[in-house]
Amino acid sequence: KQSSPAQTEFYQAAEEVLECLRPLFKRCPHYLEHNIIERIVEPERQIMFRICWVDDNGYAQVNKGYRVQFNSALGPYKGGLRFHPSVTSGTIKFLGFEQIFKNALTGLPIGGGKGGSNFDPKGKSNAEIMRFCQSFMTELYRHIGPTTDVPAGDIGVGAREVGYLYGQYKRMTGRYEGILTGKGLNWGGSIGRKEATGYGAVYFAQNMLKARSESIEGQTCLVSGAGNVAIYTIEKLLELGAKPITCSDSGGTLHDADGIDLEELKEVKRTSLEAYREQRPGAQYITADDYPENGHAVWHIKADIAFPCATQNELTATDAEALLKNGVTCISEGANMPSTADAVDRFLEAGIAYGPGKAANAGGVATSQLEMAQNSSMEQWPLEKVDEKLKAIMANIHQQCADTAAEFDEPTNLVLGANIAGFRRVADAMIDQGVV
Ligand code: NDP
Repeated sequence: KQSSPAQTEFYQAAEEVLECLRPLFKRCPHYLEHNIIERIVEPERQIMFRICWVDDNGYAQVNKGYRVQFNSALGPYKGGLRFHPSVTSGTIKFLGFEQIFKNALTGLPIGGGKGGSNFDPKGKSNAEIMRFCQSFMTELYRHIGPTTDVPAGDIGVGAREVGYLYGQYKRMTGRYEGILTGKGLNWGGSIGRKEATGYGAVYFAQNMLKARSESIEGQTCLVSGAGNVAIYTIEKLLELGAKPITCSDSGGTLHDADGIDLEELKEVKRTSLEAYREQRPGAQYITADDYPENGHAVWHIKADIAFPCATQNELTATDAEALLKNGVTCISEGANMPSTADAVDRFLEAGIAYGPGKAANAGGVATSQLEMAQNSSMEQWPLEKVDEKLKAIMANIHQQCADTAAEFDEPTNLVLGANIAGFRRVADAMIDQGVV
């Protein structure tokens, strides 16, 4: 903390992991003898660069770019790119750190990394987005490769941005290869990738519920966010007979007690969630100005299950208390670290089914790895095959977390289970590979 005082989110993520590892170190002190703690919290490499681009008025604009190549013990660095004005080196470092353990839990050969920029895509023209992406890749291309580092999307980086980034890589290197995932379906993308994080979060909830002899069918669900993860969480919930009744963005929260109309949501999400009410006047829109103190309106609506799918620390202790008071019994995190440390404590104390992001949202990166596998064999798999694999991976992640939690005498604590199971796989590989 003394050497990098501003990285609060990174310390939050690291503290959670290290606290969970205490019982492991008691039983297996050799991890300490190999000094794995100090080695694992230090990224193998952090790249920071300037991104200059020209806006539609002809002015030169400057943004900061980052790629953190955190840990390659299990495979090439893998993790998304985030374009959002709030991005700092600390944000990328926290996301990269979480990614190491998430990727380990998938059981697939992928290391952990993350990248992004403080560029704000909101209000930019298509041409500006393209010029920005081209400039970003003009620096990033020298650091990535199909067997070294394979970025994907995250907040603010979807199919359009991945397309522009890929085009520039190809132009600069002359190579048509799998250096990004989340690509378009007719140029190397995997069927089912864009849906995978949201679908996976729902599959994870199904596994948690099954372990408690419950089902998702007929359950009322709260979802936050209105981006890639939220949309496909809502889609899968509807398909399985559950009732998602909310979504949100940075402007406010939409509450449709009759169940979210997904087609209408897809129509309005790029402009304003408030416009949803023009077609569905029974719905309620709560602006961010009217949110409860220290909280977020989504989590104060009565429901059975919650899916935080927007961003980090969007669910506070106040929100956690409201959820528990209203009878929520299951939380599956589509976003990365959406619950504050105090909120997580509340969920664990209450003993509800709580699936932390690094386990519950790992379906996205797992399917990205399936995209890499398809690229390297020049195949394209059908949806059924990808979805079957995704279901199996999510069931396996849940089982590993539950088994590990039970092994350490805290059978309902999937946070402990996820952190120990993920850490063990990475740490064992680091020890095998020597001090490098
Ligand atoms: P998108 O950019 O598609 O969507 C993000 C959504 O969250 C938008 O609706 C955005 O609203 C909203 N949001 C962002 N910040 C806030 C905020 N402070 N308060 C309320 N709403 C907010 O991103 P994704 O859906 O891809 O990512 C969402 C989360 O899921 C992130 O935590 C990401 O790291 C995580 N994740 C994503 C994966 C993926 O495959 N895409 C994989 C694993 C995790 P607005 O547009 O108004 O800002």
